[in-house]
Amino acid sequence: MSATGSGPDIPTALTLHRGDITEQTVDAVVNAANSSLLGGGGVDGAIHRRGGPEILAECRALRASRYGRGLATGAAVATGAGRLPARWVIHTVGPVWSADVDRTPLLVSCYERSLRAAAELGARTVAFPAISTGIYGWPIDDGARTAVATVRAVTAAMPGTFDEIRFVVFDDRAREAYEAALADDS
Ligand code: ADP
Repeated sequence: MSATGSGPDIPTALTLHRGDITEQTVDAVVNAANSSLLGGGGVDGAIHRRGGPEILAECRALRASRYGRGLATGAAVATGAGRLPARWVIHTVGPVWSADVDRTPLLVSCYERSLRAAAELGARTVAFPAISTGIYGWPIDDGARTAVATVRAVTAAMPGTFDEIRFVVFDDRAREAYEAALADDS
């Protein structure tokens, strides 16, 4: 019997990896996209650079069909993954950090809707970057806590759906934030 097999009795593994999201061998990687879906910096730039033009072509088609005004903040949509090792890319638009308005529900929505899209595709392993914590300025400790709490809640509500949800971080500071969030069971 496999240690990480599927089934309602086996909890989803939440794991932490330091590295590049584009190199993850998982079913689906999540892109910290912007609403244009037409590429940007950070994770978005890396995914389109490494994944090649097929992903952008699919994103352009989505803009021309379902998302003429762009993808809303907190929403998620899937495309193929081009030349990446993953099979799908799930594009989600994180909220820009605001010190005045609490936009946490939108960040929660990114994780929830990305996981819902992954489940619809049949993806059993999903890798997330630290959405909104780069160019969009979200504090990493809070972003990590929100990510871990939301993924815990969704996977508990969907037993047997996912084998592994992987948090992929780029640097030591982010790794520490996720380690602390994963160690906190409260
Ligand atoms: P956002 O615009 O949502 O803030 P970014 O792509 O700017 O998204 O950054 C999100 C997080 O991902 C940041 O913590 C950043 O350090 C990290 N990051 C940037 N590039 C990569 C990459 N190639 N793989 C994994 N994480 C990355």
